[in-house]
Amino acid sequence: MFTRIIKKIPIFVVPAAILVSTWYLVPYIAGLTPGRQELVAYAPYLVTALGMFLSVHFHRGRPFLALLMLVIFYWSSRTFLSIEQFEPALNKVYQAFVLLIPLNMLLLTFSRERGIFSTAGRMRFVFLAAQAIGVFWLFRYNFAELVPYIARSYIHSPFMNFLLVPQPAMVAGAIILAIIAVLVLRRQAPIDSGMFGALIAFFVAGNWLTTPDIHAAYSIAGALIITMSVLRDSYNMAFRDDLTGMPSRRALNENLHGLGRRYTVAMLDVDHFKRFNDTYGHDAGDQVLKMVARKMMDVGGGGKAYRYGGEEFTIIFSGHRTDEVLPHLEELRCTIADYRMALRSDERPKGKGAGKSDRGNRTGRGEEVSVTVSIGMAESGEELKTAAEVMKAADKALYKAKNRGRNQVCRGV
Ligand code: GH3
Ligand code: MG
Ligand code: MG
Repeated sequence: MFTRIIKKIPIFVVPAAILVSTWYLVPYIAGLTPGRQELVAYAPYLVTALGMFLSVHFHRGRPFLALLMLVIFYWSSRTFLSIEQFEPALNKVYQAFVLLIPLNMLLLTFSRERGIFSTAGRMRFVFLAAQAIGVFWLFRYNFAELVPYIARSYIHSPFMNFLLVPQPAMVAGAIILAIIAVLVLRRQAPIDSGMFGALIAFFVAGNWLTTPDIHAAYSIAGALIITMSVLRDSYNMAFRDDLTGMPSRRALNENLHGLGRRYTVAMLDVDHFKRFNDTYGHDAGDQVLKMVARKMMDVGGGGKAYRYGGEEFTIIFSGHRTDEVLPHLEELRCTIADYRMALRSDERPKGKGAGKSDRGNRTGRGEEVSVTVSIGMAESGEELKTAAEVMKAADKALYKAKNRGRNQVCRGV
């Protein structure tokens, strides 16, 4: 359990690295020449433009909108949020920003990717514009009495004096960050983690609004974090399998080049999977593939798992012989065979021709299913020199395992 969480933390590395570097670099801004300082002040626009360009290129509406919101905040802070006589408790627009931007970031993180210029994508622009109009309307027509509530300090403590962001917005922000963090850990999606990092940067920039160096630096950081997340997301599109989240066949092909002299390849195939799909439905089949993938990614012995395609997977044990990996593959095979998967209500068995409407009437709640897998393995050596030869031998061994009755591990020559 604990190691499972540890394994999921690297998704935060890029945002964290950018935030920490920003922290270290901020003091240097004051020592720059005026020309360069001006460049720093404009850099958020440049990075945002780059991030938006990439978002358009990769059809990513969520980071695009996040960048848009953040750059509007940056621009507003430098123009009409009048930095000289800034009084956060009185500045209604500031109040609206520090409440609404995190809220929208949360919505964006949870929403599906719908592109930018698609109908759904355009609706999101309308949604943001509607909020802006709503805020204007709210403050314009004597709802100003609301402001003391959202700007009030409920806790008075000298430790909190540095906080410009009002306490209610801080609390809301902390809750939102916690929710997004859980989602990032679970989904392991770069754009989610980008949202998380950018939101932290937003709070720092928003809180030190009156300190131009910090404000600009963290605005750059936020835009950079999102831009990087778009890049990593596009990398994942190419090298990561969408359903299982594990590396794809393309990643496998790339990594085969980097193998040393000694390694073992294991090929794994789910038994009678076609029958499983026919009995329980394709969605339940997908759940099984995800389960199998999870177990495979936890395999011991230094194995690295890939989805080869369909219900077939590959594990590469770099630097190991078949003798060494056999116990780990046996353990994997048993773990999968022993696993009882509860079908979700929408995946309960449906008879032939059962329509969507009568699925809900079916009983069988709590039904458990299980699958087995067959595994073939082969190691590099005198006879098998190239990775292609080793994989072919492992594949042959897999067929041997199938012919011998499935749910077993076989060794190739
Ligand atoms: P065997 O024990 O010999 O491997 O029998 P099998 O039925 O598993 O073998 P076969 O290769 O004929 O069937 C593979 C099936 O896997 C066909 C297809 O319906 C299913 N499949 C492939 N990819 C996916 C997927 O992404 N999701 C789901 N649900 N099913 C898939
Ligand atoms: Mg197959
Ligand atoms: Mg199969």
